[in-house]
Amino acid sequence: MDNDTKSALERAQAHAARYLDSLAERRVGPALDFEALMATLDGPLPATGEDPAAVIDALAAAAEPGLVASTGPRYFGFVTGGSLPAALAANWLVDAWDQNGALNIMSPGTAAIEAVAGRWFKEAIGLPDTATVGFTTGCTMANAAGIAAGRHALLARAGWDVEADGLFGAPEIDVVVGDEVHSSVSGTLQLLGLGRERVIRIPADGQGRMEPGALHAALAGGTKPALVCAQLGNVNTGACDDMEAIADACEAAGAWLHVDGAFGLWAAASPQLSHLVAGVERADSWATDAHKWLNVPYDGGIVAVRDAAAHRATMTQSGAYLIRAGSAPDGMEYVPDASRRVRGVPVYAALRALGRDGLAALIEGNCARARQFAARMEAEDAIEVLNKVALNQVLVRFVGGGSPAADDALTNQVIAAVQADGTAWFGGTVWQGKAAMRVSVSNWRTGEADIDRAADAVIACYRERL
Ligand SMILES: *Cc1c(COP(=O)(O)O)cnc(C)c1O
Repeated sequence: MDNDTKSALERAQAHAARYLDSLAERRVGPALDFEALMATLDGPLPATGEDPAAVIDALAAAAEPGLVASTGPRYFGFVTGGSLPAALAANWLVDAWDQNGALNIMSPGTAAIEAVAGRWFKEAIGLPDTATVGFTTGCTMANAAGIAAGRHALLARAGWDVEADGLFGAPEIDVVVGDEVHSSVSGTLQLLGLGRERVIRIPADGQGRMEPGALHAALAGGTKPALVCAQLGNVNTGACDDMEAIADACEAAGAWLHVDGAFGLWAAASPQLSHLVAGVERADSWATDAHKWLNVPYDGGIVAVRDAAAHRATMTQSGAYLIRAGSAPDGMEYVPDASRRVRGVPVYAALRALGRDGLAALIEGNCARARQFAARMEAEDAIEVLNKVALNQVLVRFVGGGSPAADDALTNQVIAAVQADGTAWFGGTVWQGKAAMRVSVSNWRTGEADIDRAADAVIACYRERL
């Protein structure tokens, strides 16, 4: 290896090791905010270059006070997984190999690893083994690919080639979403020309699940081909749509059923929890994240589609120089990208390191830790848990302010105080008109003691504010 590469990698490894060693005890939130960091970092492009190892030292030192320990055990913000050791190390290899995953001929080695990763994913979740799999940047692009495949199939049945001719003048289709649809699906609809607002919204129940009866009625009363987007894992409550009932309604209407299962889909990998997503295998397309609950480093998502031809038709680009090798599908056929990072490689490493039992233990362990946290909160007189803790999400509200508005203010003050304290990190949300602290347990590192430390910190911050 040349000396520049060697010394830069050695510096990166030393900084990475120091960072990972700090995770158990470091402050979870950042020490400095964006503005403070820019005040010291910003400046003109240097006129002359620098030694690579010195660049790595400088950037590590500069970023350090602004890093968030989201890969550590007491970060409960958004839905953010950590990094399994094998997945993190596999990502380093992906960087060193620097393969282009567009075509199999560019890297048969990583193409084969990705093909196996796709197969293992389908086995873990219980999806049809003939479904095609693409590795995307995240669940948003996985939603885009799955919904685009549905758009293709519905319009092809109506005699319209949407990839060639676009949507102008096309037969209309109905897009049906639950009232608690994630912004990612809405963002995808705006990108695909289906319209973020031009949807039929189905009412949701108290936990955020689409009402299957209302879906059935909407589909039965509709006259156009329908594309239904269900959700597994509400970002606030963790609730999962009733897949059997939704699949029944879609089947009766001949609708395409897409599942946004960014994190909730992984419940299928647990014998204890798979009943929450029973019937998921009956859908037509599935989208999920690897960087959330599978604990693969950012970034990575997965799309699977039952109808291989629809998947391929909607994503494939063609050109004389795009040389096919053999009959196996190429990585670029199932994702919006052409040149692409081989994101299936860390997925392979994660699934191989966990195995079926380790994956189930990861998912079940996080859910048990979520119940542990909820129990600590419920044991306090004036702290409420707003959701039914079915999965890994908990919504906490601090009361005692004297009025709903005062409780909203108190809840937001406690969240800010906990973030400033640094023992743990939680974000805020609004659930059914009430401010709440949002808790997501999605990290393989989070143990019982971390939950107790985080709960102690939250309760202390709350009592100080009373
Ligand atoms: C996170 C999330 C998404 C978007 O996934 P990205 O990886 O951020 O693109 C979509 N749907 C749900 C339910 C999510 O939680």
